[in-house]
Amino acid sequence: MVEGNSIVQPNDKIIIWTTTPWTIPCNQAVAVHPDFDYAKIEVNGTNYIVGKFRLEALKDEFGWTDYKIIKEFKGKELENIKYKHCLYHRVSPVILANYVTNENGTGLVHNASGFGTEDYLACKAYNIPVFCPIDELGKYTKDINDEQLVGVFYEKANDSLIQRMEENHCLLKCSNIIHSVAIDWRTKKPVMYRATKQWFIDIASVKDDILKAIEGVKFNSDLNKNQLVSMITNRKEWCISRQRVWGVPIPIIFDEHKQPILEFELIQNIINIIAKEGTDVWFEKPVEYFLTQKHLDKKQKYTKEKDIMDVWFDSGSSFTLLKAKGLNYPADLYFEGNDQYRGWFNSSIINSTIYSNKAPFKQLLSHGFTLDEQGRKMSKSLGNVIDPLAICNEFGADILRLWAASSNYSEDVRISKNILTQNAEAYRKIRNTLFKFILSNISDFDYAKDKNTEYDDFDKYVLYCLKQNVQKINKAYNEFDFSQVLKTISLHVIDLSSSYFDVIKDVLYCEKINDPRRRAIQTVLYTILKTYLIFLTPIIPHTCEEVYSFFNIPNKKEFVMMEEWPKDIEFNEEVDLNNWTKFLNMKKAIYAELEIARNQKIINKSNEAKVIITANEKLPFEIETMKKYLNVAIVEQKEGSEFAIKIENSGLIKCQRCWNFFPKDQMHDEDICNRCNKVINE
Ligand SMILES: [Zn+2]
Repeated sequence: MVEGNSIVQPNDKIIIWTTTPWTIPCNQAVAVHPDFDYAKIEVNGTNYIVGKFRLEALKDEFGWTDYKIIKEFKGKELENIKYKHCLYHRVSPVILANYVTNENGTGLVHNASGFGTEDYLACKAYNIPVFCPIDELGKYTKDINDEQLVGVFYEKANDSLIQRMEENHCLLKCSNIIHSVAIDWRTKKPVMYRATKQWFIDIASVKDDILKAIEGVKFNSDLNKNQLVSMITNRKEWCISRQRVWGVPIPIIFDEHKQPILEFELIQNIINIIAKEGTDVWFEKPVEYFLTQKHLDKKQKYTKEKDIMDVWFDSGSSFTLLKAKGLNYPADLYFEGNDQYRGWFNSSIINSTIYSNKAPFKQLLSHGFTLDEQGRKMSKSLGNVIDPLAICNEFGADILRLWAASSNYSEDVRISKNILTQNAEAYRKIRNTLFKFILSNISDFDYAKDKNTEYDDFDKYVLYCLKQNVQKINKAYNEFDFSQVLKTISLHVIDLSSSYFDVIKDVLYCEKINDPRRRAIQTVLYTILKTYLIFLTPIIPHTCEEVYSFFNIPNKKEFVMMEEWPKDIEFNEEVDLNNWTKFLNMKKAIYAELEIARNQKIINKSNEAKVIITANEKLPFEIETMKKYLNVAIVEQKEGSEFAIKIENSGLIKCQRCWNFFPKDQMHDEDICNRCNKVINE
């Protein structure tokens, strides 16, 4: 010690420990933990300052027979006392740092700011400048100010330094230990830490602006927003330079004093050249090629920056292309994996805020990753990798797309053959029940010529539901909620196939081709098909294109994708929803009873049933309509306070053409009903 305080006097000694003797010449400070207990001890007439918690260990280590504790105190009492370097006439301070541990060493830690992150940060807190007198070849530079070391490879200096410390009577012990060190993953050689000059973005100076820009961005969940906010909040300097042979150049030229020339005209000149000739020109041409006349005239020895830009800086600048291509800036949407809150989303909003004080995107959307059926990551070694191409070959691309669209993609999603088979089932429902059924039933229908909007109640109800779904689906698409799109359509298809499609078959199959009722139903079917076909095109484009090729539609486009997006349908009539709810509930109860009657062999099929409804209020529809909508032979209402349903066999005669059941007076002969006879013979 050379400068003490009330506890420490000059000539007291502090003990440090290191596994890198070659950093001793670079020592700039000794760190202690502010809250740990330290002690001044006397051993054979010499006073040492050490961590109290290491006393016994050090006694063994140095073979002290005994020691005497003179004083005990907290580490913070040692702050700013000064010691002389063990090799040089250099005086340095004792500093406080929380990274000091009490598990090994002496409790006092050697600090060389150029050779470790913790050392760097501890020294920075005391305004101790970075000192890194070792060059990129690992040799001491002139800055070390030690003739014996200049030009020596750092590891080769260990022996001579140990010898010199011994000669200076400041080496207490030297021994070999085995410990782990960081290695280069490719060469497997130990890595040394060395402070180097880099280019940084000072995030602190724009942090508030970035956080303000985030406020204007739409996120799909607060969780994702908080993720980005906390990452920006905790971000310090962003090192944007990298040491690689090739990449996007950092357009900086150094003068003969190795100082970067931060001059707008010069940098703009470099940018102009690169814009014309590409980034490789930076590596191919000599420095003079990029100088402005002003610097050429100075005839200095200039050098180019060899470092390249961090690739995140590159990708984080991609928004500049929007303007260049005449597109909207900010972009409507950035969409990537949910690891990009750390990556692309992050670097983009930093660069864009610096560039124009706004976010480069109006909205951020992110997706999870694909896992196997058990929720495990896919890996070659586990053998659970599912190749998208293999799925396309086996199931078709649309099944894969349907799976993707139906998944909750904001989180990680599972995929397997089983899951895909379930999707294939959903696909068949859309393909067969919706597309195939409607296409085959409107094959004789020309919308321009045959359109008939004299709808009956059921047609209106179906169109009303379709109209509601158009709003729902558009909302879901706007929110990128593709699973909601599929759910809405699938539920309606299930609903249609179990009611409306059943009811209309008789008219479609048995009435005359030009019958107005038939044309009205076809108009409804046409509207359903056109609407859902266009809605499903983004999700299952191949299937939709195929359907479109068979679809007789006015002003047919080259591809279904060129059809106008449905914002509404041509239907504005009121529908008594309460009445429909009443009917559908009643139908549910009646169908349950029909099921029982079928099981009891009272009837073979529902359409030969006689349904007797006991109710004291009016039925939702006229008896004839009820019969039609329920697809049964007879409906009868009985007065009574208690609602009840009774099923009987109608005992009527089956028409061999339409398979409906009729009383004798409605049959033309014993085979054919009056209606069918009329259709055939007129
Ligand atoms: Zn018939």
